Amino acid sequence: MVKQPSLECLICKQIISNNNPDCETCGYPLHGTDHEKETFMVLRGNREIDLEEHDKQIRNLGRYLKVIGGFTAFWGLITYFLMAADDKDLIIPASSIVLGAVYFSLGIWSKKKPMAAVVTGLIVFVLANTVRFIFDPAAIGSGIIWKVFIIIAFIQGIRSAKEAEKIKKELYYV
Ligand SMILES: [Zn+2]
Repeated sequence: MVKQPSLECLICKQIISNNNPDCETCGYPLHGTDHEKETFMVLRGNREIDLEEHDKQIRNLGRYLKVIGGFTAFWGLITYFLMAADDKDLIIPASSIVLGAVYFSLGIWSKKKPMAAVVTGLIVFVLANTVRFIFDPAAIGSGIIWKVFIIIAFIQGIRSAKEAEKIKKELYYV
């Protein structure tokens, strides 16, 4: 039996047997024409551009999370200072500051674990607004357009995080 020589794939650096027409890992046409190789590289380049676009969306969402965190904590402080001196109730200010810190931390965490951070952010946002609605049903209308925008941004962020994971698997085999 003749031992097939093996070679390293130019793209993914996997060792592949020379008798395969394409790399088994990344699909690079080892024995293809120059045109086929070029087409492969162009398609790969396009996927890299897609990945960059999704990463940008996630970075923006991370920034929004920090801004929402800042505003939520600030709102908690303002609420506290606006209360009458003899009627200071710590529950709303304290919970707003904690919630703001949670959003802010999720914004930082989204750099490392975008999917987990964005999903957690959406759950926390919906839960916090549900709790607020239960205690203060009149509050549902306040800032409703912003709330809808924020939920849409979270859902788009989840889609981007999912796509980015998929493309990274495709391109870098992680
Ligand atoms: Zn390969």
